[in-house]
Amino acid sequence: MAIDVPQHILDALTDVEMPRLPTESASSERVRLAGIEVPVYRSGCVVVGSGAAGLRAAVEMKRRGDHVVIISQSAWGGTSACSGSDKQTLHTANTADQGDNYKAMARAIRSGGAMDEDIAYVEAVGSSRMMASLQFLGLPLPQDRLGGTLRYQTDHDEVGRATSCGPRTSRLMVKVLAEETIRLGVPFYNHTTAIRILSEGQAAERRVAGILVVRAADRTEQNPLGLAIFQCPVLVLAAGGPGELYRNSVYPNGCFGSLGLALEAGLELVNLTESQFGIGTRREGFPWNLSGTYVQALPHVYSVDADGGEHHFLADYYRTTQEMASNLFRKGYQWPFHATRMLEFGSSLIDLAIVRQAAAGRRVFMDFNRNPLPVLGDLPFSLDRLDDDVRQYLGYAGARQAQPIDRLRHMNPLAIELYRRYKTDIAIEPLEFAVNNQHMNGGIQVDLWGRSSLTGCYAVGEAAGTHGVTRPGGAALNAGQVFGTRVAEHIGASRRAKHGAAGDITAMAKEAVAGVLAVLRADSPLTVKSVRAQVQARMSDKAGMICDPASVEHALAEARALNAQIREHGLAFDRPSEATRVLQWRHMALASEAVLGALDFFIRHGGGSRGARAICDPQGEAVPSTRAGPLPEFRFRREQDEHRAEQIVVMLHGEVLHISTRPNRPLDESAASFFERDWPDWLTGRVFGLEVDGNGNA
Ligand SMILES: Cc1cc2nc3c(=O)[nH]c(=O)nc-3n(C[C@H](O)[C@H](O)[C@H](O)COP(=O)(O)OP(=O)(O)OC[C@H]3O[C@@H](n4cnc5c(N)ncnc54)[C@H](O)[C@@H]3O)c2cc1C
Repeated sequence: MAIDVPQHILDALTDVEMPRLPTESASSERVRLAGIEVPVYRSGCVVVGSGAAGLRAAVEMKRRGDHVVIISQSAWGGTSACSGSDKQTLHTANTADQGDNYKAMARAIRSGGAMDEDIAYVEAVGSSRMMASLQFLGLPLPQDRLGGTLRYQTDHDEVGRATSCGPRTSRLMVKVLAEETIRLGVPFYNHTTAIRILSEGQAAERRVAGILVVRAADRTEQNPLGLAIFQCPVLVLAAGGPGELYRNSVYPNGCFGSLGLALEAGLELVNLTESQFGIGTRREGFPWNLSGTYVQALPHVYSVDADGGEHHFLADYYRTTQEMASNLFRKGYQWPFHATRMLEFGSSLIDLAIVRQAAAGRRVFMDFNRNPLPVLGDLPFSLDRLDDDVRQYLGYAGARQAQPIDRLRHMNPLAIELYRRYKTDIAIEPLEFAVNNQHMNGGIQVDLWGRSSLTGCYAVGEAAGTHGVTRPGGAALNAGQVFGTRVAEHIGASRRAKHGAAGDITAMAKEAVAGVLAVLRADSPLTVKSVRAQVQARMSDKAGMICDPASVEHALAEARALNAQIREHGLAFDRPSEATRVLQWRHMALASEAVLGALDFFIRHGGGSRGARAICDPQGEAVPSTRAGPLPEFRFRREQDEHRAEQIVVMLHGEVLHISTRPNRPLDESAASFFERDWPDWLTGRVFGLEVDGNGNA
């Protein structure tokens, strides 16, 4: 079967080249801190991170005349630029065939609970604008000949609100947004890693004053670590998710996020219990989700033991070949693991089966040159013996080719191209995969305008904890775009970032530098390698998709002990160039304790299985079954309805985590806006909830 889209078109959607960054201007100002000559950069606002969310915030701020700079650990690193899947999506509400409305969309976004109702509505209502503005910037979202956006159904989406420009959608978003920042002249400081937030004032008066960074370009003999200060009254954290937390991860390498940074600065974090786990190829090779057409093509899934023996393990779980194949197909749009989908022979039984194979030391593969083998004693696989929804979908898609590879080539040739780019030809060889951590739904707690609990500090994208327990596929990118714009609107209205920062912050910078130097200790018995191995193993083995109360409690005690050790001994480093990683692993150790603390709190308060995790408990109400009978060791607690109405808030006070709950913010769906009544709020800026003085300053 020939690919019916010319190769050069596929190439353009797969190999997305990024623009050249502008030349960075060096700082001419220096301050002496702890004997080090530290450069100082002054700005109205610093955006930390150059993923899709951070770039959107920078573009929107610059367009509003704000003084903004971007700093980034790695300009085209992070999740938006380096990962994705064939379902990398945005939300659309603009096609007429099924209709849509923002309230219904908001309900879908928050359907898993533990999400603020107003934020869900903001994301829904903002999505059309995000889509249109990305199209304006040149994002090639697919359309029909009448201008409607082509769309399809993804996970937690009953309507079909997803669209995609192929496997590199989010990278394409980064590209068009980066081109715009360059066109607008936003200064960009690459290889610049934020390591400590600087703040001034006490208690409720405390506000952002700047950020301490490690910056390769500022490394000198007098400043071997490359420390630098960006002084700014406004900070936007857009550092993405904590991909390094788990050993089994489909995040690109080097994603640390900003949870540790935020904890150290005393910010409130929320919903840290909520992540996503699902099947994909790990970051050790090419990190990619195996959702959508990869599974909808219905490849044969099998495992291989240490002696090379092959096992058709899914046949031990499902009762018929049809049931097994149909559930494999459903993983296409029910991609993340969900405990309840392990029941009644649902699609998450596949995730459980894979995790058990891995625990037994077996490697798991997808073979696109074999159809699923039959379940013992049942009929062979046939495209005519599939559940109705599956058969119909493949029929509509015209995917009735005999072999999975031909069905995949027909439905999504880019899926094959993509792996080829990374030296795996799935048309020839089977693809090894596993269940991995993919997304952090929680993060920094923000309000309707993306404001964190520290005045002047905003958070957007995966750094922000705006998602609840489940999020429809594509909602992460949409949220980053919506809130990137919202924070810019708010910052613009506050007028706080119109000019570069003035004043002297030497005293607080001195304290921050001293704090950093206290962590970096050449003689520490703790190394990056040992901390990484410990944190990742603990998170994957004890806080992955299958957990139990005792293991979580034990893991929390170990995480606490590790942080106590780090406080006492610091972390070793050999060369100044290793300082960034050392400080990031210090942050990850803190973030890990916070996630485990929240999880332990949740479980202690009767928390059951929801979203990413099954909480196994011999007293649990539900037990998954295989064709051979129930699996008592995976008996799990059901979710408690009341937990859907609240969120778990975590904050670090000194060395101790404070954990509490708060109710979701509600939205009165019956409260309609009224033009004449509400326009003045817009004209005067009251919509932003700012106290504005006579000169228009907030
Ligand atoms: C395999 C995979 C598939 C996915 N598929 C989808 C999908 O189909 N749809 C969807 O909506 N979402 C999907 N997601 C999630 C989504 O891609 C991410 O949530 C989103 O891209 C995050 O964007 P961001 O801008 O917040 O962060 P990122 O894109 O991760 O960017 C973070 C930026 O911050 C920088 N940075 C990090 N730490 C620091 C620091 N301390 N100092 C300075 N800079 C720093 C990084 O270099 C990077 O530039 C997927 C994720 C994965 C891993």
